[in-house]
Amino acid sequence: MLNLTDMQVIRELARRHHFTFSKGLGQNFLIDPEVCPAIAETGIPAPECGVLEIGTGFGVLTQELAQKSEQVIAVELDKRLAPVLKETLHEFPHVKIVWQDIMKVSLPEFLREQFGDRRVAVCANLPYYITSPVLMHLLESGVRFESITVMVQQEAADRLCARLGSRAAGAVTAAVQLRGHAEQLFSVPRDSFYPAPKVDSAVIRILPYETPVCPQEKLEAVLKVVKAGFAQRRKTAENALASGLGLPKETVAAALSACGHSATVRFEQLTLEQVLALTDALHEAKNG
Ligand code: SAM
Repeated sequence: MLNLTDMQVIRELARRHHFTFSKGLGQNFLIDPEVCPAIAETGIPAPECGVLEIGTGFGVLTQELAQKSEQVIAVELDKRLAPVLKETLHEFPHVKIVWQDIMKVSLPEFLREQFGDRRVAVCANLPYYITSPVLMHLLESGVRFESITVMVQQEAADRLCARLGSRAAGAVTAAVQLRGHAEQLFSVPRDSFYPAPKVDSAVIRILPYETPVCPQEKLEAVLKVVKAGFAQRRKTAENALASGLGLPKETVAAALSACGHSATVRFEQLTLEQVLALTDALHEAKNG
């Protein structure tokens, strides 16, 4: 197996295949020999569990995933990587590359086609320019993944795993934590990548809840409240929600008061449970 954490091997592959790294596609490949085995180890619960990888690069993580899982499907956008991957993954017939933009993949049908009834976990070193959209795409697909273990920029990791009710949280924190438990596993310094990005990264894992904290039919309403609340986070929740949701201030005030909040509370101070209760209260206050 080609050692893809060896800089000489990477340079040689790039040279022979005339490959240049695309900044626009977030092509910072892992070169730290400890990181990919750690992602595969924590991300794959059992060999029978299939793996969906997003973005193969030269295949450094794919090689590790292939050693731990019986079936790996990797979605990669950059077709220039095809000749490289032919060389780096030739020992793994149970790995299939699908040349597509992950954002354009309709996940329920795609996973059924590729994996049948197999359980599926997601493992990836995500392209940074679409971290949140990809996570939302996965979480909103309605597919119940075993787990989602991904490398993201440190700042995104902090936000995604923040406690709702703390200053570090944002709309994406709530959007993720409405569907699953997010935790930071370990940090990865910038020099673990080639080319090295300007910031450090971290690996996070999202474990979808066994029992949803929010029923699917209520999700849209909660997300609207969350977006409005965080859009103007310096304002009071009353002002932010009234303007963001287009509601009279008295309606929002009545809902906040019914939930036991003071008139000056800010949205970022609310926990997930409080946001869920407030969504119900807003619905009631609006509809009398
Ligand atoms: N897994 C490799 C590694 O760890 O070295 C590569 C990770 S690199 C951060 C991100 C990869 O995602 C690149 O190979 C890039 O071409 C690919 N990519 C970027 N945008 C994509 C998209 N919309 N859909 C699928 N893959 C994408």
